[in-house]
Amino acid sequence: ASDRQPQVIECKLVLLGDANAGKTSLVVRLVKNRFNAAQPATVGAAFTQHRVPVAEANELIQFGIWDTAGSERYRSLAPMYYRGAQAAVIVYDMTSKESFEGAQMWLSELREQGMPNCVVALAANKADLEEARQVTTQEGQMYARQNEMAYFETSAQSAQNVSRVFVELANRMPRSL
Ligand code: GDP
Ligand code: MG
Repeated sequence: ASDRQPQVIECKLVLLGDANAGKTSLVVRLVKNRFNAAQPATVGAAFTQHRVPVAEANELIQFGIWDTAGSERYRSLAPMYYRGAQAAVIVYDMTSKESFEGAQMWLSELREQGMPNCVVALAANKADLEEARQVTTQEGQMYARQNEMAYFETSAQSAQNVSRVFVELANRMPRSL
């Protein structure tokens, strides 16, 4: 601990995942603590900031969160989206096997286009729809473990684990000295 002011560290974070997985809803829950069951498809600017304190390191991680503006429908994003991204959240809808397969495609695109040391979390979203679930906890967890990702089951609707994803990433960011 220290009595110095925490050092603010800016960090670019990209949200990846198929359209409809809940990327925008997770950010809205994170920063506005709201949920819209009829969340409009993302258009135009989708950049949000969110700060997470890391007390042990006396740091304040300031995430600049990039959400895709519809281009995820093309299953490939512009290189500028990945450029300099130090953190990523790959989101899938646990009620859609297809979106879980999509998550694997997004991870390989991130590994090709992104920074080699990018810190990644996997969010199995829509956990409130347990009865419609198509991807088990074990499948998600195993895939995350094999690829060195933190794994969370989230719900933008109920807020389950939403802020924890970002706390975990902030704590996993390489510490500056
Ligand atoms: P995006 O295309 O990945 O940005 O997904 P959106 O955030 O636009 O969400 C797509 C749809 O799923 C919208 O109708 C949301 O209201 C809904 N949605 C998102 N997250 C959740 C969730 O955790 N639970 C439920 N039940 N619906 C969700
Ligand atoms: Mg969106």
